[in-house]
Amino acid sequence: MATVEQPVQQNGSEKEQEQQQQAGRHQEVGHKSLLQSDALYQYILETSVYPREPDSMRELREITAKHPWNIMTTSADEGQFLSLLLKLIGAKNTMEIGVYTGYSLLATALALPDDGKIIAMDINRENYELGLPVIQKAGVAHKIDFREGPALPVLDQMLEDPKNHGSFDFVFVDADKDNYINYHKRLIDLVKVGGVIGYDNTLWNGSVAAPPDTPMRKYVRYYRDFVLELNKALAADPRIEICQLPVGDGITICRRVS
Ligand code: SAM
Ligand code: CA
Repeated sequence: MATVEQPVQQNGSEKEQEQQQQAGRHQEVGHKSLLQSDALYQYILETSVYPREPDSMRELREITAKHPWNIMTTSADEGQFLSLLLKLIGAKNTMEIGVYTGYSLLATALALPDDGKIIAMDINRENYELGLPVIQKAGVAHKIDFREGPALPVLDQMLEDPKNHGSFDFVFVDADKDNYINYHKRLIDLVKVGGVIGYDNTLWNGSVAAPPDTPMRKYVRYYRDFVLELNKALAADPRIEICQLPVGDGITICRRVS
């Protein structure tokens, strides 16, 4: 399991408690948001997200909640954001790297027009198949071209055909964080000028802003350096304009400008 989204461990020292009490400080939270208030996050979900969540997405969310790796799923508020973004940009030809049980994939498939397409990549087909019956029942499976295996060789193969260059309206990247830079090098040619790439988990449980001596789970520390490098590289890349949003675990929206 290459990517999971769990909180940075804290030692509960007085210094930390003091820091947490300071206004404006974001605290560690045990759910799929970095908002400083659990109540506020719950408010957003209950007021604006759950009442508008399509039945199929709710069903998939409930199935996924029973899976042992459920921490990996896209949160309902982020699913809603992706859906709206796709409609705002009128996306038709899309890609997703990192499917798991398919919550963000279903959000995408529902948001695209009937002739829209998603090339969806994951090294694990079993988890995708857990969500597939819900996707089929929702009547959107025909938009999905699932490719089992590591994403990089698929991107390299796509790049060999000039027709694929500048052909994608939207790409959602939510897989192995140590490869995001490698994905970016390829995706920047595959997405069209004016198209959008969304890199997920760019706040990495808040660890990106934690002092280096903060106790962290091993995998959080390991991927943290890659996320830090990615964030710097995206901010310095003149081919894109960006906006890093504190939705879910942080998503950086990149619009290709050249
Ligand atoms: N977007 C998904 C959702 O909404 O539930 C969550 C994706 S989960 C955080 C990350 C996924 O990336 C896992 O299912 C994992 O199998 C997949 N993954 C890890 N390394 C990969 C690679 N090299 N190529 C493609 N997928 C990979
Ligand atoms: Ca994610």
